Amino acid sequence: MPDVEPLIDRFGRVHTNLRISVTDRCNIRCFYCMPAENVRFQPRSEILTFEEMARFVRVAVGLGVNKIRLTGGEPLLRADLPRLVAMLASIGGLNDIAMTTNGLLLREYALAIRHAGLHRLNISLDALSEAAFRRVSRRRGLDKVLDGIAAAREAGFERIRLNAVAIRGLTEQEAVPLGRFAREHGMELRFIEFMPLDAEQNWDHDRVLRGRDLRTMLESAFGPMVPIGRDEPSQPAVNFAYADGRGTVGFINPVTQPFCADCNRLRITADGSVRNCLFSADEWDARHLMRHGGTDEQLAELVRDCVAGKRTGHGIDSDAFVRPARAMYQIGG
Ligand code: SAM
Ligand code: SF4
Repeated sequence: MPDVEPLIDRFGRVHTNLRISVTDRCNIRCFYCMPAENVRFQPRSEILTFEEMARFVRVAVGLGVNKIRLTGGEPLLRADLPRLVAMLASIGGLNDIAMTTNGLLLREYALAIRHAGLHRLNISLDALSEAAFRRVSRRRGLDKVLDGIAAAREAGFERIRLNAVAIRGLTEQEAVPLGRFAREHGMELRFIEFMPLDAEQNWDHDRVLRGRDLRTMLESAFGPMVPIGRDEPSQPAVNFAYADGRGTVGFINPVTQPFCADCNRLRITADGSVRNCLFSADEWDARHLMRHGGTDEQLAELVRDCVAGKRTGHGIDSDAFVRPARAMYQIGG
């Protein structure tokens, strides 16, 4: 339980969920996220240290945060990541410590992060054909990702979730193979509509493949699906179970079915800026505060200000929508 008033915004949303980007670097170049070449990464000195991240998390937990997810960039590229996981796991009050990864380095790290105290893994997998994997990531590596998924299972991770970005012109061919793979391996599959956060700014409404269209494709291959409830109201996915009992599929539809009304998320970028939304135009500079003698009380105040500044929703579908200055890999997905 928080020892002070929880993080409630102007619309009554209680913030308990923090996403921490641990790096902006990545070993592939997904077109919906990063530029293909010549990426300008943040200098190392501007990236938070593990000690700074742990301090921020301790303050956030004091304000009621009980769930964290490590992301990036590719979190497993951050040297000695298991040490950060262990530091965070030793902070009391966190019910859930999860990570989103592209899976390429899981063969090396799955066991170490599990032993360090990581509870859950989401692994991104957009395609099961090498050609489509390369089209998305502009690199090779599907075999390595699949081996990484196997390594995560061998390390004892349960409830592994596979995330696929839903892109018109690409995901139509991949949906059924992904559905089959997830069913065969007992993993949950989630489709996330392509959002306007690509560094190259090629996003277009027409490139979003809607969750409901994907569901139709999966139903024609595997039979009917029935809606199932959400684990908690702030859960962004609309979930379905196959009627034959062989698994579940979630659809996150930020573009066609925004879930902002129930959002409980806060984010901190790898360089220490606190954001109240993926699409936020404003950031609160926690790194400056931490590196210039700011107290934990001042850090807590900064987080409160950030939550107080949260808008009702991102408005991707409105004419007034303005893309954030940073792309996905610089914010942390
Ligand atoms: N590198 C890790 C990975 O890919 O899993 C973690 C960071 S990545 C930014 C987190 C998630 O955001 C991934 O599942 C990725 O597919 C998703 N993502 C990235 N850009 C996106 C976009 N423009 N629209 C929707 N999802 C996106
Ligand atoms: Fe890297 Fe993840 Fe972005 Fe792909 S989505 S480029 S794996 S950070």
